[in-house]
Amino acid sequence: MLEATGLMVFYENMLALNNVSIKCEDKQIVGVFGANSAGKSTLMYTLSGIMEDIRKKETMAGGERITVLGQIRFLGRDITDLKPSKRAREGIILCPERRRIFPECSVIENLRIGAYLATPSQAKDTLEYVFKVYPSLERLQKRVGGFLSGGEQQMLAVGRALMAQPKLLLMDEPLLGLSPRIQAMLVRSTKEIRDEKGISIIVTEQYARPVLPIVDYAFILENGAAVLEGPRDEVLNNPDVRSAYFGVSE
Ligand code: ATP
Repeated sequence: MLEATGLMVFYENMLALNNVSIKCEDKQIVGVFGANSAGKSTLMYTLSGIMEDIRKKETMAGGERITVLGQIRFLGRDITDLKPSKRAREGIILCPERRRIFPECSVIENLRIGAYLATPSQAKDTLEYVFKVYPSLERLQKRVGGFLSGGEQQMLAVGRALMAQPKLLLMDEPLLGLSPRIQAMLVRSTKEIRDEKGISIIVTEQYARPVLPIVDYAFILENGAAVLEGPRDEVLNNPDVRSAYFGVSE
């Protein structure tokens, strides 16, 4: 479904992604694990195309030079030069790190904004589905986004991304700062979304432990390079994974 090869991203002279190749097959959940600054968000911005917007903004502001190299194919087509809005239309939807919901808008408004790529009937069906997966969002639908708890905001961020009708959902550190109970619920719901909707998912996390059970395939990123990859069980049983698994470098 998605195949990126030889991705390199430089922030000025700093190499943030070093020749990363990553693949996500149809209906797979792929985990990308790595410590702080490993390059997870850079990878997600590059796959979703948002890096192109960041690059242009920096150039216009006379800031640092961002260079992006490599190739990205999605559903058999080269999308390397496709703008982020076009990639979203093709079905690549990013659920960004730290949620980034619209804090002044209500839950239902946030969800409706997400539906900008959906037909009215898709929007209606998806809204029902989002409320089925996250019943608390239905109860909270008039609540202003900024007043939600971290876990509720994360549910809303995923719900909003679903409203955009993704074929491939990119989830950047969805569990960040949440309690183990909420983390477990979000992990369960992520698997449910893949199983029930057939949406492929690439999820990044600092700590592999909570997410590894639901991923089919995993990559370990270190200092911008993919140092290890394999099917879940292979990665689980690899002694070198301990550092990524526990989030400490040994
Ligand atoms: P975290 O878990 O902290 O979010 P991450 O794995 O997502 O980390 P990135 O945000 O992709 O890591 O950052 C990778 C490296 O690139 C880091 O060293 C970071 O400081 C650097 N970096 C990220 N964005 C920029 C930028 N706009 N300009 C310069 N350096 C940047």
